[in-house]
Amino acid sequence: MTTDVLNPSTGTVLTSVPSLDEGETDAAIERARRAFPAWRSMAPGDRARLLRRFAAVVDEHLEELADLEVRNAGHTIGNARWEAGNVRDVLNYYAGAPERLIGKQIPVAGGLDVTFHEPLGVVGIIVPWNFPMPIAGWGFAPALAAGNTVVLKPAELTPLTAIRLGELALEAAIPADVFQIVPGKGSVVGRRFVTHPAVRKVCFTGSTDVGKSIMAGCADQVKRVTLELGGKSANIVFADADLAKAAASAPSAVFDNAGQDCCARSRLLVQESVYDKFLSLLEPAVRAFRVQDPADPAAEMGPLISAAHRQTVASYVDGADVGFVGNAPEGAGWWFPPTVLLAHGPDDRHWREEVFGPVLSVLPFKDEEDAVRLANDTEYGLSGSLWTRDLGRALRVSRAVETGALSVNSHSSVRYWTPFGGMKQSGLGRELGPDALLGFTDVKNVFLAMGD
Ligand code: NAD
Repeated sequence: MTTDVLNPSTGTVLTSVPSLDEGETDAAIERARRAFPAWRSMAPGDRARLLRRFAAVVDEHLEELADLEVRNAGHTIGNARWEAGNVRDVLNYYAGAPERLIGKQIPVAGGLDVTFHEPLGVVGIIVPWNFPMPIAGWGFAPALAAGNTVVLKPAELTPLTAIRLGELALEAAIPADVFQIVPGKGSVVGRRFVTHPAVRKVCFTGSTDVGKSIMAGCADQVKRVTLELGGKSANIVFADADLAKAAASAPSAVFDNAGQDCCARSRLLVQESVYDKFLSLLEPAVRAFRVQDPADPAAEMGPLISAAHRQTVASYVDGADVGFVGNAPEGAGWWFPPTVLLAHGPDDRHWREEVFGPVLSVLPFKDEEDAVRLANDTEYGLSGSLWTRDLGRALRVSRAVETGALSVNSHSSVRYWTPFGGMKQSGLGRELGPDALLGFTDVKNVFLAMGD
């Protein structure tokens, strides 16, 4: 069976890729299981060298990978280059890990007690369509570095860069079957990662509903699981902030990747004393946001991923109080203009639910306490931002907002060497940074008796 892969900027078919069935998925998992012993016992320095070589090969193909993502996912060329570079950087970062995966020596009487960080075996990675390259890399790089073998399922809509990364791994001399791409449906391939006993951990990034079903499925085998799920992050602007800077950066904080970003700051909370002033600064920034052919280096935003998704996004705007709207091309492709909606309270559907499109909801707040209450009034807790010149408030609010990654007077939330992940129903476990590696291992304690 095959699936057609479309270009979201034009709606035309790019190519078609295999969609594997359960038997083919089992065969891939079995190959990964057989490849595990040799990969885990490879000298750490050799495993590190192979991962560095993999990073170098990715770097040599950076333009090709970026171009593929522009065509398959509608990402702007600037973003797509960053994403391919992120795969390279994450590989290089975790290539430093094999020789440093150090256990402990714990004092005991009558012998020696040591701990090992043992790899788990086969790790199954399930990737969504919104950031096909980085999310794949955040899973496979630390998993491989820790000595696991990997089966990776890309999203049905965006499999092309993952398939190419699988080929590049072989070109870099990563041994056969250590890193396999298994394209296919979530309900077939993804589900099999959950139910197959040889898969010892599932790393899932996607919607909260599917994530919950994966967690429930993994419970059956006490399978390890990392979940990176939805978000509805708040961008909180206090009256004392640099309003011009906060307004200039608010559009990209939500409209980047056409809002199809789990970290999108899609709820804008503005202190009521500066609400009108702030909206008057925001409007020109939204209208100037450049939505155009994503292959053009000037593009700040491309199309939505599919016709069905555009319909879902539009359903949030129908009947809502529209503040102002930016521009988008007409004609073929699944374009949607940056849209600012005025919320009338925290029960508005567009304020509560993850739209996953270029839609920003705005709500005024009274004071610090009110801002924290409104920001936390959600089941999600992935990222967020706050703008203030008051250092004490910045610290208080940073600690009070229930979210995994927060930025003050900026919107950055992803650096490959710092942890990333969600609180509450936005996720479980952390990716990236120094700790993610240990999530792909189990601690083993060994006591050696000294003898007489
Ligand atoms: P999705 O949950 O529909 O699909 C994600 C992946 O899971 C796809 O590969 C899909 O084929 C697979 N899948 C679907 N059903 C499955 C099942 N029953 N068993 C196993 N696998 C299954 O999500 P999506 O629409 O592709 O992605 C958008 C969502 O992802 C948004 O909610 C977004 O917030 C979230 N997301 C979160 C993060 C994060 O790091 N927290 C990052 C990116 C995206």
